[in-house]
Parts: sequence; C-alpha cells; structure tokens
Amino acid sequence: MQTFTFQRVDDPAQAVRLASASTSAQQGASVRFIAGGTTLTDLMKLGVEQPGQLIDINHLPLADIRATPEGGLEIGALVRNSDLAQHEQVKRDYPVLSEALLSGASGQLRNMASTAGNLLQRTRCMYFRDNLSACNKREPGSGCAAIEGIHRSLAILGTSQHCIASNPSDMNVALVALDAQIRILGAAGERTVPATEFFLLPGTTPERENVLQPGDLVTHVVLPAPVSGAHSGYLKLRDRASYEFALASAAVVLHIEAGQVLDARVALGGVGTRPWRSAEAEHALIGATANEATWQAAASAALAHAQPLPGNAFKVELAKRCLAHALATVAKSA
Ligand SMILES: Cc1cc2nc3c(=O)[nH]c(=O)nc-3n(C[C@H](O)[C@H](O)[C@H](O)COP(=O)(O)OP(=O)(O)OC[C@H]3O[C@@H](n4cnc5c(N)ncnc54)[C@H](O)[C@@H]3O)c2cc1C
Repeated sequence: MQTFTFQRVDDPAQAVRLASASTSAQQGASVRFIAGGTTLTDLMKLGVEQPGQLIDINHLPLADIRATPEGGLEIGALVRNSDLAQHEQVKRDYPVLSEALLSGASGQLRNMASTAGNLLQRTRCMYFRDNLSACNKREPGSGCAAIEGIHRSLAILGTSQHCIASNPSDMNVALVALDAQIRILGAAGERTVPATEFFLLPGTTPERENVLQPGDLVTHVVLPAPVSGAHSGYLKLRDRASYEFALASAAVVLHIEAGQVLDARVALGGVGTRPWRSAEAEHALIGATANEATWQAAASAALAHAQPLPGNAFKVELAKRCLAHALATVAKSA
C-alpha cells in the first residue's frame, strides 16, 4: 500500500507555498496537485504516479472564464472541459477549441476534467502505464520498450531514440494553434509561457514534459483576441467514433479573402511527442490560393520530417489526409 497525505487549499499562493516547501523538505519526494483526478488517480492505481502528498486545488478561485482587455479570454485552471466547450464566446470565436474539447473522452469525464488537468495529462503509451516495462519517461535510463514493441498509436514527429510517446490531449492541439498563453504561479512569482513553448521535446530527457518546476501551479490559460475574419475547426481521426484518443488530428485557423490565404495556423495531434504546431504547413498556406492543391501541399509539408516506425507508418498518410480535409472544411466555412 502506497500512503500519501491529502490537503485541501483555498488560496493559490498557499498551494504553491505548500507544494514548494514539501518538495524541498522531502528532497524531491513527489507532490501533486489534484483537480478532477480523472487521470492522476488512474496513474496512482497503476503505481505509475506515487505522490507522497496530494494537494486538492478544487477550492481555489480559478473556475471562471473572463474577457481580457485585449479582446481575448482568460480561462481559469479549474474550468471544467464541458463548461469551456459550451461557453458562448468559445463556441463563437474559438470553435476549434470547443470542437477539440467535445471530441475528447466522454461526457462524464469532461464534466470532471479541468483545463489545467487536461493540459498536463500524461501520455497514454502502454509502456509508460505499465510499471513492468522499460520506459525512459517513467524511469529515466531504463530504455524505451515502445520502439521495438507496439507503437501503433505513438508519435512520428519530434521523437528521439529515448522516447516516442505522443501527447494525448485534443485541447492542447487547439491551444497551440490559437497561440494561447499559459499563466503559472511559482515560488518566484507569476510568469506566462506561450503554449507553443510550454511542452518540451523528449530528446534525452523524456521525463521532462513541460517547463513547469516543482511546486508550480498553472492558474490560467489565456487566449489572444480572435483574428478578425478567421475561421477555425478541429478534425480528429481515431479507431472508434467516441471515447477514444486521436490517431491523428488537426486544428486549423484560416483567414481567407478573395480566394487567397492571408493567415494560417496549423497544429497536429496524435502524431507528435508534443502538440505539434506546423510552421511548414503554415508556410505552404500563407499567400497561396485557397484550393485543394494548396491543402495537399500544406499536408505534405507538415509531414515531411516524420520519422515513423513500422507499426505507425500508416500515420503519415492518415495525418496528411486529416490535415488536408480539415483545411478544406474550414475553408468552405470561410
Ligand atoms: C477513459 C478516458 C478517455 C479519455 N479520452 C480523452 C480524449 O479522447 N482526449 C483527451 O484530450 N483526453 C482524454 N482523456 C483525458 C482527460 O481529458 C483527462 O483525464 C483530463 O483532462 C484531466 O483533467 P483532471 O482535472 O481530471 O486532471 P487531474 O487528474 O486532476 O490532474 C492531471 C495532472 O495535472 C496536474 N494538475 C492539475 N491541475 C494542475 C494545476 N492547476 N497546476 C499544476 N498541475 C496541475 C496534476 O497534478 C496531474 O499531474 C481521457 C481520459 C480517460 C480516463
């Protein structure tokens, strides 16, 4: 039996103080914030996460969605996925985010799942979730069983010889396409990091998935004002129509005028070790004529540097078709 302490907090600064103090006092013994608990408790039951201390953050005043003076939205870390997906302004100005959220998990899970919890969910790689397997992310230096093993659902972009685990979140794909910012409260104060820089590539340190330091609390996700005249959408391809993670997905924000692409933001899910913003696809789109040849060129550019393994080589073509179809669909609505 793995024992842990459980404390409830009602002030963000108190949460950070407690987490930071415990981290240094116990010399790295793990402290975890718990929000909806829909993924952390699973990982604790599997023995993958073994925190000595849980800090319940559900009573923090971080459950609101507010308009920012710049015309964007400030989303509290505890806003539930269902509430965010159904928020009128999100549906109107950021449909890609609403669609991405609604494509994830199930209604019951989305009612519990929080914005920060979704942001920080761990990979679904089966070797990471199995304590008996080699996994550099779970146990640095132990190896990567997935590379020689079953890797059908895993990443083809941003991989390293140490890790090919994919980031499983749908919401994160929309956030990187929307140029969201992540607001963090830590022992040294508050800081803001672009979503595109928040997630780290595995490289030689796959155990480090993001820029958070021990004790850091994510307080908000901030969306910039929507690009005037732009349309957006999310397409997710998976083995079954619901309650399933993406094999490939695409988040697309397009601004088209007089048949020309003026602006484009593109991100891919299910295929990257982090939510994958594609500068290559955007380069192929911006300034080009809005037609099928352009969508195909952008899709090819996005996957040009893919490094598939035998079991997930099919994802290259799947992701291309996913992106081309998402671009065509969003362009039609423009
Ligand atoms: C069966 C199943 C199917 C699913 N399908 C999908 C899917 O198709 N697509 C998809 O995107 N997701 C899917 N999910 C994942 C689901 O979206 C996540 O479980 C959920 O979003 C996590 O949110 P939570 O609030 O429950 O997180 P928790 O479990 O409470 O926490 C998750 C992690 O975030 C940390 N954390 C939470 N809040 C903060 C904070 N404010 N600051 C710092 N750290 C914090 C915790 O310490 C923990 O490490 C699925 C989950 C399940 C169980």
